[in-house]
Amino acid sequence: MTQHPLSWWGEFHNAAMEAEYRTSRLPEFQRQARLVFLCAAILNALFVFSDWRFYGQPHFAWALAARGVITAASLLCLALLRKPAPLRRLDVLCAAWCPPVIAASAVLLIPQSETARLILLALPAVFYLTLPLPVRWALLAGAGFSAVTLCAHLFGGGDSATLLGVALAVATLNVVLALALLRISRLQRLEWVATRAASAANRQLSEKQVMLQTLLRAVPTPLVIIARDSGQLMETNNAAREFFGNALANPQKLLQCLVGDTIPAACGQILQHEVCLPQDDRATSRNILVVETLVIAGGQQAIIAIIVDITHRKEMEAHLKMLASTDPLTGLMNRSRFFELAHEEISRSHRYERPLAVVMLDIDLFKNINDTYGHEAGDTALRAFADLCRAMVRSPDSIGRIGGEEFALLLPETNRTNARALAERLRAAVASLRINGLSVTMTISAGVSEVLPGEDKPDAALSRADAALYEAKRGGRNRVVLHL
Ligand code: GH3
Ligand code: MG
Ligand code: MG
Repeated sequence: MTQHPLSWWGEFHNAAMEAEYRTSRLPEFQRQARLVFLCAAILNALFVFSDWRFYGQPHFAWALAARGVITAASLLCLALLRKPAPLRRLDVLCAAWCPPVIAASAVLLIPQSETARLILLALPAVFYLTLPLPVRWALLAGAGFSAVTLCAHLFGGGDSATLLGVALAVATLNVVLALALLRISRLQRLEWVATRAASAANRQLSEKQVMLQTLLRAVPTPLVIIARDSGQLMETNNAAREFFGNALANPQKLLQCLVGDTIPAACGQILQHEVCLPQDDRATSRNILVVETLVIAGGQQAIIAIIVDITHRKEMEAHLKMLASTDPLTGLMNRSRFFELAHEEISRSHRYERPLAVVMLDIDLFKNINDTYGHEAGDTALRAFADLCRAMVRSPDSIGRIGGEEFALLLPETNRTNARALAERLRAAVASLRINGLSVTMTISAGVSEVLPGEDKPDAALSRADAALYEAKRGGRNRVVLHL
């Protein structure tokens, strides 16, 4: 269990903290002490007029001397406290003021008068509540004043029943004033602790705010904070201003573009998704990764969106994918991409029961071209053949280079008869194709097949087309064979 920071008499247990508290209130304590000393000097001087009624009695001289002591002590302390003093000096001055004032007051309160009793009851408050002494010193000074002045008053004689009443009234008053002092001390210190904690929290908060603002500005990534409901732009950084430009003028629309309906369900949850953002010119777009989270800012829900421009990465990915699936010599699909696509098309043809034909093509005696005209010329011939194929097929058809001088066609929505007709047209076109650097024409052999309904092997049609191609080779080349 943590110990309460305050002792029963209302000061901090921790002496350093108590000193810090009292030092923080030093200017106010000094003003208070000066006021007490000034009032004491003026009021005592004025009381000389009241003491005039003792003129001619032995008490008159004592009263004048006592008034003189109080006024002199008060003026001296006031003079010593004219300039700001450290806390220790203030405490010593206030404490030093007490003994002569108490002693002189005792002399003044000897007479059994109504005024004396009134002052007997009123003055302890000066020591308990008005002098800015440490709490225990104030308790001692207040109780000391009452004890000494009460003794002096009792010494002055009078009706014993009345004197008992006066003594009890003084005692009661002391208890009340002591309790009031303890309560005030406690409350003042608790308030000080609370104020100090609040200002420390405020300081920390403003430090954090500054840090956040600096961070926000320093981050090279575009970042926006937009109120979820009102669509008001709450924060942004230079990178965002540069990236979004005029789009920042309509934050609500920007928020819709960036996050759409994918808003985090709870504060702190982080979501990320890719968005294709049209540019101002409408013709181009940028691929961005949006990392978003929900926060409470200014008492309302707000979306923090951090934007990473992945346009270049996406272009690289697309380029790498293209390279991985394209034959570099002819620009046609390579073998692996062609067979991947063939399997997709074959299963689609089965699922929707649509016709699909495949054609396997092989350039005849291509080795001779290489041997006669050189490898370069062979390459030119391969490219010319690929261009011819591209020019002769429809847009849904696919062409792949599946080997050195072997090619294949994938013809969706085409039956075997039409596929054979296309292969024949292609064969004839190749036979009459003039190729740069070659004084002879090329010929091709082709095998045609069609995907059959209900066949369970996905490669069956391809194998049949392959078999038909070899039949064409065996049959003398420069021909098309349809596998029935
Ligand atoms: P067939 O009629 O039986 O198909 O005879 P072919 O000579 O065409 O067949 P073969 O398999 O004997 O030879 C194929 C030749 O294709 C051998 C190879 O050097 C050539 N070739 C393969 N890829 C390329 C290439 O990228 N460029 C060139 N210039 N030649 C290639
Ligand atoms: Mg060949
Ligand atoms: Mg071959």
